[in-house]
Amino acid sequence: MTRTGLVLILAAALSPLASPALSISNRYRSPRNPERKVRASTELIVLHTTEAPARSSLNKISERGEAHFCVTEEGQVYAIVDRDREAFHAGRSMWKGKEDVDKFSIGIECVGHHDKPMGLVQLVAIRNLVQHLQDMYRIPDDRVVCHSHVAYGSPNKWQKRKHRGRKRCGMLFAMPSVRRILQLKARPAFDVDTRVGRLAIGDPYLQGVLYGRTDTMVGKYPAQKPAVAKTVVPAKPSDKKAAAASPPPSSGAPTSVAHLKARGYVQKGVVSPTMSASKIAGGKWNAPDTYYTIRNKVFPGNAIDESRIEKGMCIWMKK
Ligand SMILES: [Zn+2]
Repeated sequence: MTRTGLVLILAAALSPLASPALSISNRYRSPRNPERKVRASTELIVLHTTEAPARSSLNKISERGEAHFCVTEEGQVYAIVDRDREAFHAGRSMWKGKEDVDKFSIGIECVGHHDKPMGLVQLVAIRNLVQHLQDMYRIPDDRVVCHSHVAYGSPNKWQKRKHRGRKRCGMLFAMPSVRRILQLKARPAFDVDTRVGRLAIGDPYLQGVLYGRTDTMVGKYPAQKPAVAKTVVPAKPSDKKAAAASPPPSSGAPTSVAHLKARGYVQKGVVSPTMSASKIAGGKWNAPDTYYTIRNKVFPGNAIDESRIEKGMCIWMKK
């Protein structure tokens, strides 16, 4: 490590504004790190699926420096390439006319397949990592994309033109049911590059997943957020219309401050350097019916990792 690198890490660790630490293993740090350039900008987070088991994927990704992070089925996060350097994860790629997405993105490999459901433990780990990086690089929800959003193919015997749809890597992360679990409230609305004709649409099915309503994961996950041990109260028939429009405030997990208020939760305090979560909520700091809110996101106490409790989080409990 260079001296500057060490100083930066120390500065980050000592800064009171540093993001909460995630549990990240360095066991598969890539030997390619020293030869990789520091990225000039970070505009996208790109999610991939390994399409192979964890051990072989980690070995390959580390050896070739093909991602910044890899998340296993057990929810273990491995750092591969230093997050500020370029990882070679996106290959032939384009986003809004800019080629070589590696130069302005962070790549996360997720052990699994583009068309198969992932377990909630893994999805929650991905969510925590993504939120951590979004905070760090100021990346909005609609710039958390899948590899298939940005990959494109050269002309070949089936496609005369450059085309979107070279691969379906990470496709499930565009599906609304999965994004709900990742607490991503937006996704890219349309493909700028196919719309203006820079690329042809090479895979209409993929286009339907990325930008349409195709969601093969619907029904694979509970309707509420993961890791909530709350009993779901069935909505009254009169609530049905409201339920169709937005997540019902009377059942499932609350997803906004308004839901919490509607269910009789009150704000007990705000986490600060002198006011810890356990000072505010006592022994119930990690109970399933204690909620944490920050930047309009809601986390139940039993799903929040202690290391993610940060300054400014509001704690809500029943009156
Ligand atoms: Zn990929």
